[in-house]
Amino acid sequence: HLGEQKLVVLTNSSVYNETLSNLCHGCYQLLISYQGLSPMVRGTENLDENHSIIKKSRYIKTLDVTLTLKAGDDLYWQEAYRIGVVLFIAALIAAFLAVIFYWNWQSARVSLGMLLQKGMSRKEFIPYYQPIIDCRSGEVVGQEMLVRWRRFDGVLVQPNQFIPYAEDSGLILPITDLLLDQVYRDLAQLKGWVSINIVAQHLESGLLSQWFSLNRDPMVKRIAFELTERKPITQFELALAEIKAVLPLCHDFKLDDFGTGFGGFSYLQRLGINSIKIDKMFIDTIGTKDLKGAVLDAIIAFGHESNMEMIAEGVETQEQVDYLAAKGVYQHQGYFYSKPLPLKELLHFYLQVSHVR
Ligand code: C2E
Ligand code: CA
Ligand code: CA
Repeated sequence: HLGEQKLVVLTNSSVYNETLSNLCHGCYQLLISYQGLSPMVRGTENLDENHSIIKKSRYIKTLDVTLTLKAGDDLYWQEAYRIGVVLFIAALIAAFLAVIFYWNWQSARVSLGMLLQKGMSRKEFIPYYQPIIDCRSGEVVGQEMLVRWRRFDGVLVQPNQFIPYAEDSGLILPITDLLLDQVYRDLAQLKGWVSINIVAQHLESGLLSQWFSLNRDPMVKRIAFELTERKPITQFELALAEIKAVLPLCHDFKLDDFGTGFGGFSYLQRLGINSIKIDKMFIDTIGTKDLKGAVLDAIIAFGHESNMEMIAEGVETQEQVDYLAAKGVYQHQGYFYSKPLPLKELLHFYLQVSHVR
């Protein structure tokens, strides 16, 4: 609008034809309708539009013209083809990466297995001991043996990096066998009992009764076992028979990670276990508003009622010590007292404790 006058610009309609056809032949159609007259068609004459994906109209008031742009099947198929190609390439890349990943994972597993085998023959698995303290007397009543893998290059590998594989592959059986022998050699220097971590496989394989039949020294009565609740027992009868056979020869069986796994109260009853290790997860709730705090209290109440020996795991603070003592749980294990130590440092720890007392 220029004041009361209008400026009208006419564009040669062939521009539409060319532009629309150049973009994609058979894809676009432009309808130009003026004052109710039948519309002029530009672009593709007879548009196939079963899959029409665009239809846009615009009314230009000053010219009284309606422009309608439509897209037809050719555009649809062109796009579908383009997306198809992109997806196909993406699928190829994903499959390629998956193969590489699987191959790496598999060879890492195989080589971890070989490294563990070598580690056994070189005696690289060494027992660390974490003392368990009676908080009333401050005395060491026992210790848990926690394995460490000291590689030939001096690197100390933590259990979470190889125990899951050792358990899945069955290598945990010969490793535990070696550890039992080493614990047996250390026993004379250890105070109280020493517990060894086992999984259902140990019971199902009869490894423990075999070991005890070969080692009849009365000192082995100080060896205890911690059966984790995190993994289920599949052959219950076999496990039960093994516990019955070994129980008179050892200190006791303890249910480890109590409250976190499969067995719970029914394991204790059916397996005849009367010692539990309360998992760190529950000890961590002391002094917090975590709802699991109520579970801790319930576990402790259950322990007292059923006359269970209770050991609190992962005790890190004075507040936790006080809380547990007030609830009648006196056997504590955790960084508050000591982290797991090699034998030599454990002996130092015994000395320190006896000096403090
Ligand atoms: P677990 O049996 O629950 O052992 C307790 C773990 O908690 C140990 O970790 C110990 O170092 C850690 N811990 C103890 N007190 C504290 C604390 O106050 N704070 C914190 N943050 N952690 C604490 P570790 O030695 O790394 O062992 C990890 C797991 O590996 C063990 O868990 C056990 O399931 C497994 N494991 C260790 N040695 C053996 C073994 O000889 N045989 C089998 N089958 N499993 C083993
Ligand atoms: Ca344990
Ligand atoms: Ca535990």
